[in-house]
Amino acid sequence: MATIKALEGHTVNQIQSGQVIVDLCSVVKELVENSLDAGATSIEVRFKNNGLDFIEVQDNGSGIVGDNYETIALKHYTSKLSSYDDLSSLQTFGFRGEALSSLCALSKFHVTTARADEAPKGTRLDFELSGKLKTTQVVASQKGTTVAVEDLFMSLPVRRRELEKNIKREYGKVLAILQAYACISTQARISVSNVVAKAKKAVVFATKPNQTTRENIATVFGTKALPALIAMNLSFELQLTTPRRPASISENKQVRVLGHVSRPIFGEGRQAPDRQMFFVNSRPCGLPQVAKIFNEVYKSYTVSQSPFIFANILLDSNAYDVNVSPDKRTILLHDQTSLLESIRVSLTALFEKQDQTVPRSQKS
Ligand code: ADP
Ligand code: MG
Repeated sequence: MATIKALEGHTVNQIQSGQVIVDLCSVVKELVENSLDAGATSIEVRFKNNGLDFIEVQDNGSGIVGDNYETIALKHYTSKLSSYDDLSSLQTFGFRGEALSSLCALSKFHVTTARADEAPKGTRLDFELSGKLKTTQVVASQKGTTVAVEDLFMSLPVRRRELEKNIKREYGKVLAILQAYACISTQARISVSNVVAKAKKAVVFATKPNQTTRENIATVFGTKALPALIAMNLSFELQLTTPRRPASISENKQVRVLGHVSRPIFGEGRQAPDRQMFFVNSRPCGLPQVAKIFNEVYKSYTVSQSPFIFANILLDSNAYDVNVSPDKRTILLHDQTSLLESIRVSLTALFEKQDQTVPRSQKS
């Protein structure tokens, strides 16, 4: 039998990095979240060749202090979380300090950053694959941080080939994620551009700062979408179990679901874009069970199409866990069954209040 040995550091680093940065979406998600965490009011996301050659995220946020240059790309170094208990009161998207280190291990990667008191001078930081700071160089820079990622997955040949093969589909998924951040981020302007082959710079969309989510939806999806959408403001109380040591406690907590959803009128929803976005306390995430309820309720009114959904579930920070998957896209809701039931009841009540043009007898 083969002897058991510890993997060498470089191998462990590659394996772990590939779990945090699983695809093009993870890159963009992690970088945009870092910019939002840095308090940016302007975020520019630039792609070359759909992201295959180059991805860059530039923000006007806080910038990085010189003392942190050495550690930002080291695994598990974060300025955001200091103990496991802090996780339940987390106000930031990031908390594990794995994104920059993973990008370092998987691509040609560099950072340019300037604090308010340093601009228009900034510092370009280059790293070794391990995340160790290699060189610093003074460059011209506005306040904020720019992270550039070239040749993603160059160190994982199988993943790189997959990316090349599926780049159009991957880029489509990236746009969907960026649309979600752009619509929910009312405090920030988010602009997206993509240069493909020899084409001119192509702006995909650009929101403005200090707009409502409805205005952001109009900017991203077009103003034609608006008449087909109704505002949603569901509110209910839920017995939530808070897992606390030594014993869990059950308390009644207010839950709200804010957003916009297709009007449940036959035919009308057609003008709505075919997009469904879910958030928990404004954090974009995949919530397949919640999506299922929305679609079921909607389809009991309008069978022929699927609704546009933009739903932000506001709930107690103890009632869910974001630390489920390395890419943080899955969120575990502790009392999911009762939450889903309450959403079903209150969404049905919202739809019942709308004018129906289809007689009840024709509804399935
Ligand atoms: P995390 O976000 O979990 O802390 P990251 O690897 O994404 O881990 O980032 C490491 C650290 O680098 C952050 O904690 C933050 O201090 C700094 N940082 C990363 N991106 C930015 C940015 N755009 N602006 C300012 N600081 C940043
Ligand atoms: Mg981060």
